[in-house]
Amino acid sequence: MQENTEYRDVWVYCEVQDGSLTRPTTEVLAGARKIADKMGMKVVGILVGYNLEKIAREPIYYGADRVIVCDSPLLKSYQAIPYTYVLSDMVVKLKPWAFLFIANEIGRELGARVAYRTMTGLAADCIDLLVEDFVMHTPQGTKVFKDCIAQVRPDFATRIAKIFTPRHRPQMSNIRPGSFTPLPRDENRKGEVVQWNAEIPPEAFAVEVIEERSLPKSTIKLEEAKVIISLGLGVLKDANGNPRNPLEAYRYAEKLAEAVRQRLGVATEIGASRALIYSNIKELEGLVVKDRQVGQTGKTVAPDIYIAAGISGAIQHRVGIMRSKKIVAINTDPQAPIFQIAHYGIVGDLYELLPKLVDLLGGSGG
Ligand SMILES: Cc1cc2nc3c(=O)[nH]c(=O)nc-3n(C[C@H](O)[C@H](O)[C@H](O)COP(=O)(O)OP(=O)(O)OC[C@H]3O[C@@H](n4cnc5c(N)ncnc54)[C@H](O)[C@@H]3O)c2cc1C
Repeated sequence: MQENTEYRDVWVYCEVQDGSLTRPTTEVLAGARKIADKMGMKVVGILVGYNLEKIAREPIYYGADRVIVCDSPLLKSYQAIPYTYVLSDMVVKLKPWAFLFIANEIGRELGARVAYRTMTGLAADCIDLLVEDFVMHTPQGTKVFKDCIAQVRPDFATRIAKIFTPRHRPQMSNIRPGSFTPLPRDENRKGEVVQWNAEIPPEAFAVEVIEERSLPKSTIKLEEAKVIISLGLGVLKDANGNPRNPLEAYRYAEKLAEAVRQRLGVATEIGASRALIYSNIKELEGLVVKDRQVGQTGKTVAPDIYIAAGISGAIQHRVGIMRSKKIVAINTDPQAPIFQIAHYGIVGDLYELLPKLVDLLGGSGG
């Protein structure tokens, strides 16, 4: 392995959709900026694809100092093997200190393949990045690795973990969408764009792409909502333990969302816990769908107000809402973990409280 000191700069794999950088790309560029500034390093946007000329400076406007563009008709459609080939070759030759991907279908696949090819590690599903010294205790003594990335991610159980890869470079992670706030787009930011010529062996193109079709876009925009009203399994019964029709709770949440939109004029959405979505409740079919899931395996959100109604606050849910400015919890159980992070906690029945909130905002809660 090369000396770690040879490795410099924080790279971001940039994704493009409909001629623009995707929102998660701009978020990861902001996360990269945070650690690069601590280290006195540059942020480098990596663009791979075809016809990238128009988009080449965009990563700079969102915080990069340099963009490396690999533009070829052979790379028009995303394919794991040739893209892995291009990125691994760049990593081996240019030696980045860190390489960040988005935790989505492409980023998860590509990051893992590049990490394997370049013999380094990969921390998946990170929600934050810090720069810290890593202290390793061994029978031979204690060794301190200065200035490593602490890659913060939810643990498998109940805690938050920090992953370090102190002996290998680049330090690689994929970052959950919603984990950072993009820097404002600024066309006055200076930076350089350099071209990268990849020689990709023909055998890398094991797949022929015949046609590409876009999936229908979801109309549920949890990441952009300023207010989110989320429901959990608490919708099944009222405070007296009487079974209730969960659709009733959903309709209250809808009315509340509408009252917020009318009164405050801000984007408002309905979210849900995973437990509620995976319960496949007949009455909620087509309404409480996967796109509404908040949490570790759903979406990471950062609204101004997050209302959790009938949600216990398991760690896998909490990691998705930690960046909310204000969390309001409604729960019948005063010991529910959600109250540990709520700014405002109401011990009570969501079947009473949601209609009251609608009334308060001037809607019709009854
Ligand atoms: C690998 C992994 C990934 C996961 N990813 C996610 C994820 O992305 N998102 C997620 O949400 N979960 C996720 N989970 C599941 C998570 O661990 C919890 O099981 C889930 O969040 C619980 O959902 P809940 O709060 O709706 O249900 P419960 O834990 O059953 O909580 C229901 C709450 O409602 C309250 N309540 C009951 N009746 C009322 C009433 N009438 N009014 C008000 N309150 C009431 C109860 O006191 C209770 O606190 C994941 C788990 C694993 C293992």
